Amino acid sequence: MYYNAPVIIIKSIDFSEADKLVTVFSEQYGKLRAIARGIKKPKSSLRSCVQPFCYSQLHFYRGRDLELITQGKLLDFFGNSREDLERTLYSTYLMEMLDKSLLDRMPVPGLFGLTLNTLQSINNHGLNPLFIRRFELNLAVNLGYGPVLNQCVSCGQSQTLVGFSLAEGGMVCRECRHTTKAGIINISGECLAILRQLEGANNNVLRRLRASAPALDQLEHFLEQYLQYHLERKFNLKDTIRYLKPPRQCVDN
Ligand SMILES: [Zn+2]
Repeated sequence: MYYNAPVIIIKSIDFSEADKLVTVFSEQYGKLRAIARGIKKPKSSLRSCVQPFCYSQLHFYRGRDLELITQGKLLDFFGNSREDLERTLYSTYLMEMLDKSLLDRMPVPGLFGLTLNTLQSINNHGLNPLFIRRFELNLAVNLGYGPVLNQCVSCGQSQTLVGFSLAEGGMVCRECRHTTKAGIINISGECLAILRQLEGANNNVLRRLRASAPALDQLEHFLEQYLQYHLERKFNLKDTIRYLKPPRQCVDN
């Protein structure tokens, strides 16, 4: 069966002397793994469309285990991001999260548009950490692990929420904090207010949102722990990014 789809390239690795194994994310079909034959030959027209974090229209032939890529057309290369190490790292970090959390051939339609939107925002407007945080939170929500943010997961009250219980997947109030044993992450009022806005915030809201450096740090730490806890995965690129010290201030050209 032949079919085609717009896809985001998650990764591309050597498969044999002339071929590459390409992992892609498609809105309709989810994560797919496909062989790009002869791609290492200088004249291969597919070369430019299977670079990591490219947006491409690919034509496939459905195989038993792996698809075969028969043709491709590059839709967006995200050239600004590729010229900048930090933007490249963050764009690749999004791909690493998709690779480690999605199952093969399981569509997650809500996540495709957000991935594309986040790649475009990084490319067109620079690196705003809140766009990365929105992606992380929505990854969890789309995979069915959305955190409970509006009430205490223990007693249900919505006042004085002071921390987050990883094991219970939600905020806890000051009283329940003392009786909940392990794995509580401190969440300030500011951090909680940002978290509550993040899930559904459009780009304009995110660009206008101002956050203090401590709140941004706490938000980043919280989402990292939360994703690692639920996905049981560590994201290697986060260590590289930390080593290179990401900027704290929002950039918006
Ligand atoms: Zn409580």
